[in-house]
Amino acid sequence: MTLDQPAPSRGTTIRSAEVLVTSPGRNFVTLRITTQDGVVGLGDATLNGRELAVASYLQDHVVPMLIGRDAHRIEDTWQMLHRGAYWRRGPVTMCAIAAVDVALWDIKARIAGLPLYQLLGGASREGIMAYGHASGRDLPELMDSIRAQQAAGFRSIRVQSSVPGVDKIYGVPAAPSSGTYDYEPAQRAPLPVEEDWDTRAYLRHLPQVLEAVRNEFGPELPLLHDAHHRLTPNEAARLGRAVEPFDLFWLEDCTPADNPEGLRLVRQSTTTPLAIGEVLTSVWDYRQLLSEQLIDYVRSSVTHAGGITGLRRIVDLAALHQVRTGFHGPTDISPVGMAAALHLDLAIHNLGIQEYMQHSALTGEVFGQSFRWSGGLLHPGEEPGLGVTYDDDAAARHPYSPAYLPLNRLKDGTIHDW
Ligand SMILES: [Mg+2]
Repeated sequence: MTLDQPAPSRGTTIRSAEVLVTSPGRNFVTLRITTQDGVVGLGDATLNGRELAVASYLQDHVVPMLIGRDAHRIEDTWQMLHRGAYWRRGPVTMCAIAAVDVALWDIKARIAGLPLYQLLGGASREGIMAYGHASGRDLPELMDSIRAQQAAGFRSIRVQSSVPGVDKIYGVPAAPSSGTYDYEPAQRAPLPVEEDWDTRAYLRHLPQVLEAVRNEFGPELPLLHDAHHRLTPNEAARLGRAVEPFDLFWLEDCTPADNPEGLRLVRQSTTTPLAIGEVLTSVWDYRQLLSEQLIDYVRSSVTHAGGITGLRRIVDLAALHQVRTGFHGPTDISPVGMAAALHLDLAIHNLGIQEYMQHSALTGEVFGQSFRWSGGLLHPGEEPGLGVTYDDDAAARHPYSPAYLPLNRLKDGTIHDW
């Protein structure tokens, strides 16, 4: 016996799905889905440093499956792409699925005439607390950078610092920033640039930096720090314990999340809150981290974790274990992906904080946005759908140009986690 599929109403049938690659200041991949009635939805498919792999996955393997489907069937389409590929999970696959998912949510909300957050349960708060990035090659430069972020409206701030003896380090621009934090790790070059790393120097230096910042800015300012996957669990445990007096909002990616058991050692050694997950793409990646309460914040993004539908599964599992969210929000999350995050942030109960790196004015020429930023809070706005538009003429002025994330080496030349 076969079940007849109900015929989609003609108007919401997917007429076209276009993969758009542009580079207004940095590379972005966008999926644009259009229905028979001409309703357009956008999805972010940007995977930093590996952009064309997702573009091909979509163009060559996913777009042909979308034409003729009912745009309203979001869950069914998600399951078709997730289970139907046979090859599950992974950043390329989950980024492609995310782009389709977000574009379909955009369409559904535009048809409803509502901002997307209203379809996700409505607002749980008035605005979304966001954190900005500050960094310095030395303490005076770092203090200036923190003040500049405060002047830009941020009420919570991530602090990154150079380390004596390390030449090029994650999170610190080579030149001092002038108010805006314009660190961009993905460099346009035929091959990756190389940075260097010294764990012992970092572990000696960072607690002094955080102590100086806490003394300068007082006890109220929420401070965050990103260790960027570079420590062993034992080193991470040492660091977490050493910085406890400085009351971090979170310590991020203190050790790679590939081995969740490693977090047990960190957990047993320190009460410093832990954030992990910007490279995780599926609820399955989080099962042990959440069920054992090994972390405090999930860092995945809508763009890289299967869209609104995929990330909501992670958020709901996290809520069972009193874990909150801190979605990844660097500039390689396009304005489309950022808008999707803000709609989800506004609707969920267990929001922690949202990372917010402001996009360049050049990026704004391609992507029109409707979000608001005031009083340290973000809001996705009240436009129907995501509230983001895409300008084809502006996009055509900025063709794709290869860019790589850096490599990272120890002093003896050994490749290390970047
Ligand atoms: Mg990070």
